[in-house]
Amino acid sequence: MAPKAHLFARRRRAAISNAPRILYPRVKLPQPPPDGAKETPMTADAPITQDMLTIPRKLPEEGRRNLIGMTRDELRAALIAAGTPEKQAKMRTGQIWQWVYFWGVRDFGAMTNLSKAYRAFLEENFTIAVPEIVSRSVSADGTRKYLLRIAGGHEVEAVYIPEEGRGTLCVSSQVGCTLTCSFCHTGTQRLVRNLTPGEIVGQLMVARDDLGEWPERGRPRPETRLVSNLVLMGMGEPLYNFDNVRDAMKIVMDGEGLSLSRKRITLSTSGVVPEIAKTAEEIGCLLAVSFHATTDAVRDKLVPINRKWNIETLLEALRAYPRLSNSERITFEYVMLNGVNDSDEDARRLVRLIAGIPAKINLIPFNEWPGAPYERSDWERIESFADIVHKAGYASPIRTPRGEDIMAACGQLKSASERARKARRGVESGA
Ligand code: SAH
Ligand code: SF4
Repeated sequence: MAPKAHLFARRRRAAISNAPRILYPRVKLPQPPPDGAKETPMTADAPITQDMLTIPRKLPEEGRRNLIGMTRDELRAALIAAGTPEKQAKMRTGQIWQWVYFWGVRDFGAMTNLSKAYRAFLEENFTIAVPEIVSRSVSADGTRKYLLRIAGGHEVEAVYIPEEGRGTLCVSSQVGCTLTCSFCHTGTQRLVRNLTPGEIVGQLMVARDDLGEWPERGRPRPETRLVSNLVLMGMGEPLYNFDNVRDAMKIVMDGEGLSLSRKRITLSTSGVVPEIAKTAEEIGCLLAVSFHATTDAVRDKLVPINRKWNIETLLEALRAYPRLSNSERITFEYVMLNGVNDSDEDARRLVRLIAGIPAKINLIPFNEWPGAPYERSDWERIESFADIVHKAGYASPIRTPRGEDIMAACGQLKSASERARKARRGVESGA
């Protein structure tokens, strides 16, 4: 219904100071439909049927299926199930896909290369729904944290981190987490549910809405990307929601839509060993692992999944990963906890353990949260640790905490909103 001018006006790029600029990958991009594009008539061998021309009887919102999060095959099957002739389904899938994931269109009425009857048919049967932004906090360092509402009234957080020359979106894969890593605030919250593929992809889509990052018709395409990288490092353990994460990443990587290359996606796991080879084979993205300790005794306490799959078993799976996924290095995440895992001896042991694995070691100064049983290591300690790792030939960046003023740093997600809610109910002081 909305006139085109209105539709594309909302695609204005947000003015973001110091916004990183990064080139789009060289993929063949779909051509924009020409201005005032003619509707594509249904093919002669599959004419518009009388059913399709009847006045649409729109199903109630809850009866219509959300297209976001369906893989191409699922979308095609859903179109057929709703009445699209089989012969047309592949073409319709491609057309809808581009509108939704390349152009960012949320209104079937704007899909001008589909016939009016077909647009009405889509409107009757489907929705294009992404999570709702409940609130957005912007840190002094430019980090943006989104609190998002999903079906069932649950909330998850996603964080956008602008950096020099790139921009990373950190997305959640679960509401809460089944695991109970003792240094992680998400680990103190029970698992509420897995996110659906649509809710995972939707986090990227709302971030692009907020950043004004959809292509604009009639304007030269910007050469740069604001969200150039995606990390699955928000709330939850992505490998305990494998199928949904895989389907979401398939959609994100599709070259005719959001088109993020697999080498710009990093999945972080606490070490769900049986799913690591599957990640290589079925997703092929980069892998990060929450290593955090160099002995089983300490890792059992910090990352309790270690009791199920210990350091040796984990390293075996990691050794195979680069070959299986055809990717370069594995990122070892190592949170620096004062007096717990941060000695020079730990650094030397770490280097010995990972020998032979192409690796980068990401040292994360512990992000404190109220009631946390640990403290952040001193800066000198972190540097000394980094030095040993660096001298052994590994890149060992110390991750600068981002967005701390808005509780957007690693391991702090959701906690702020959850705490605020508990405080309102008088359960906790909310300090
Ligand atoms: N569940 C996955 C991904 C989410 S956590 C995993 O555990 O890998 C993302 C990263 O933040 C992990 O490396 C995690 O160990 C780390 N992290 C969690 N809490 C933290 C905290 N309070 N300070 C610093 N890093 C933390
Ligand atoms: Fe879950 Fe990862 Fe936090 Fe561990 S570190 S509790 S796996 S989110």
